[in-house]
Amino acid sequence: MKQGLYPPAVEHIDKILETLKRHYPDANDTSLDYQDPFELLIATILAAQSTDKQVNKITPALFEKFPRPRDMAQAPITELEEAIRSTGFFRNKAKSIKQCAQHLVEQFGSQVPQNIDALTSLPGVGRKTANVVLGNAFGKDAIIVDTHMKRIASRLGLTTNANPDKIEKDLQQILPRGSWTDFSHKIIAFGRTICLGRNPKCGQCSLLSWCRYGQANA
Ligand code: SF4
Repeated sequence: MKQGLYPPAVEHIDKILETLKRHYPDANDTSLDYQDPFELLIATILAAQSTDKQVNKITPALFEKFPRPRDMAQAPITELEEAIRSTGFFRNKAKSIKQCAQHLVEQFGSQVPQNIDALTSLPGVGRKTANVVLGNAFGKDAIIVDTHMKRIASRLGLTTNANPDKIEKDLQQILPRGSWTDFSHKIIAFGRTICLGRNPKCGQCSLLSWCRYGQANA
């Protein structure tokens, strides 16, 4: 209902960016704890189908035991499984982080690469993980299409796609360069507090006047 009676979000992206900045001035980083790009890469792989909080509980001991790619590449798989068990899907994740570390050692001189193609060539690393690393550990412009971004970009009418790679491309066309990583952080904070998966708080939302979903359901 009311199609066309409210301004589409895509034409008001600057106002949306400004509003998110005002409401979430401190949402500037991932909530995963890390000391270097390698730790962030591994923590992000472990965060799949888990929570950042849960991952932060186990990574200090994991990285103390296996601090460098070579240590993780040579680790007995059972020890890795035990160390990451509480993050869920631990058998697959242990295999992924070990293979990822092996690939880093063999193909990249134990350094985490700084471009998306090289990052996504690593076992267990998709575009979302790669963008988390690029945006946070390397300060590059990166749009992180996680569950919050998927949901909110669709509700706002910034994309009609469901595929994360296509959503990323759509957002790259709409968002000004230089704003991508910051927008990603703000959207995650916004998705955790206002634009919830179930029962979004549209009545309290400062983006309501530009939101297709909120207007249609008001
Ligand atoms: Fe989310 Fe509702 Fe705000 Fe739209 S109006 S962005 S659906 S909380």
